[in-house]
Amino acid sequence: MASLRYLLLLSFCLILADSAVSQGSNPRQIADGIYSYQGPTGYISMFVVTGDGVIAVDPINTGHAEGLVAAIEATTNQPIRYLVHTHNHWDHSGGGKVFKDEGATVIAHVDAYNWMKANPHPDMALPDESWGGSEKHIVLGDKTLQLNHFGASHGHGMTIPVVAGERVGYIADLVAPNRLPFFFMPDFTVAELERTLGEILNLDMDRVVYTHNANSDPLAGGSRQDVADTLAYLQDLRAALAAEIASGTPPRLASDAVRLPKYEDWAMYDQWLALNAWKIWLEGHLGPF
Ligand SMILES: [Zn+2]
Repeated sequence: MASLRYLLLLSFCLILADSAVSQGSNPRQIADGIYSYQGPTGYISMFVVTGDGVIAVDPINTGHAEGLVAAIEATTNQPIRYLVHTHNHWDHSGGGKVFKDEGATVIAHVDAYNWMKANPHPDMALPDESWGGSEKHIVLGDKTLQLNHFGASHGHGMTIPVVAGERVGYIADLVAPNRLPFFFMPDFTVAELERTLGEILNLDMDRVVYTHNANSDPLAGGSRQDVADTLAYLQDLRAALAAEIASGTPPRLASDAVRLPKYEDWAMYDQWLALNAWKIWLEGHLGPF
């Protein structure tokens, strides 16, 4: 029974973790030719209409991808030319076949591609192309989608796409505005996440479509300030944990003892603060994992 209760609690947390369902138009125009789309499980994708075809970002799963394709077709009669994966995780990388069937070229960073090849999932199709290094440009019509990769942070091959010139980007799991980082930060390297958030702040980007956020209108997206806020939260949590241990609290109790009132209005503050702190402590104790 204990494990059943734990599973129920976990599913409740996962549901809460997702963006609230947006009111208002879906898809939503964010800037000229740039749209956000929220699927049935709450995840939010982005697509860019370029004048010579459409580039979509993150298919999530087959149901989401089918809705995304329908939303694109309701917006423009231009063909879908590319689908970009942000990273390897199954909960983002499913549904690629829906885009292949539309004739799109599916692209992932090589680190994500290699993981996807080694870890098949019935809902995940292997991308058509991979790219390496830290930057790749997809030039199509009157738009350029700049794909950025800053090394380790979360999962493999984490890609931050930015529509160059429009100053609009897309961020998957690295930042969820007005919400604490997810759960115990699975598959995150927190020190590398902090470094990566610093790199993201150097991108030529003002507005951001976030896969997950706790804003009242999730489809409207957020801004680069949300990246700065998450970085500040992680730095504040790291400092509070160190101060708690320095004050004499045994490390195994320190994670439960830390408080950060500055962030108590963020979603999941009560549920995840100690879990976030545990991850930071463990990473400092065991090394990155
Ligand atoms: Zn992920």
